[in-house]
Amino acid sequence: MINLQIYSPVQQIHNRVFTEQGLNVFIKRDDLIHPLISGNKWRKLKYPLNKARSLQKNHLVTFGGAYSNHLLATAAAAAAFGFQATGFVRGEEVSNTHLFLCRLHGMQLIFTDRESYRDKRGLFNNYFGNNADAFFIDEGGASPEAALGCSELLAELPQTYNHIFCACGTGTTAAGIINGISASGMATQFHAVPVFKNGGFMEAEIDKYLLAPIPYHLHTQHHFGGYAKTTPQLIAFIKQFVAATGIMIEPVYTGKMLHCIFDLASAGYFKPGESILAIHTGGVLGLLGMTDKF
Ligand SMILES: *Cc1c(COP(=O)(O)O)cnc(C)c1O
Repeated sequence: MINLQIYSPVQQIHNRVFTEQGLNVFIKRDDLIHPLISGNKWRKLKYPLNKARSLQKNHLVTFGGAYSNHLLATAAAAAAFGFQATGFVRGEEVSNTHLFLCRLHGMQLIFTDRESYRDKRGLFNNYFGNNADAFFIDEGGASPEAALGCSELLAELPQTYNHIFCACGTGTTAAGIINGISASGMATQFHAVPVFKNGGFMEAEIDKYLLAPIPYHLHTQHHFGGYAKTTPQLIAFIKQFVAATGIMIEPVYTGKMLHCIFDLASAGYFKPGESILAIHTGGVLGLLGMTDKF
């Protein structure tokens, strides 16, 4: 069994806004699981990697943009657990710290024009159709097995919470956590924060992986202009948060999710006495590609 010892403590976040509203706000430090296989990415890879191993497939093939945390996590996991790895990278050839680290871990990169990139199964079949060793992992690691890995987070929690918040890209992590909440019978309300503009479509994406449909909240107004877009307000918030807590967050996912919690708390959305858990899904290396924004 391929496994990692999970180190992901829950810490309280102290802030005047929360004290004034009588709220106890915590953060689950999945960013500490591994420096590169960080946050939800290890949880999402755990069962797919075990499936690959049990099928005796030793070559992981996956997909992502040039700043994809999933691509980097797959490269690092492949190196750690003895797989070969290939990453199809969307768009023309570029170099950045993410891709440097992918290559450092031995991942072969194939830059792919946006048109061909759309058909991932087609790409896989073209390049690896005759390769019995190759194992397909979808963009962002999205799969039912990935959701299963994410649902295991719930069993690690030291207490129950009134609310749990998580940022959404593919929605797989959110779906896994919702499955974990419903399996445990907790009364916890789940809040998904899509990082895209017009994030309403995220509901269908999350629902694909739900084992039993339960209601949850979708906060579609916290995208700051769209995927990987920032505003001076978001950057100022991140600077303040990191300086006040010592916990690094970044603008693409965790900054937007935490800003959403602060926003709702200031607006009196929560009831006094309630407890809130933010999931730190990792990805802080993304900051290195965005230093010009700070
Ligand atoms: C990949 C990623 C997400 C999105 O996870 P999904 O399961 O695709 O919704 C959230 N936060 C960070 C930091 C990520 O790297």
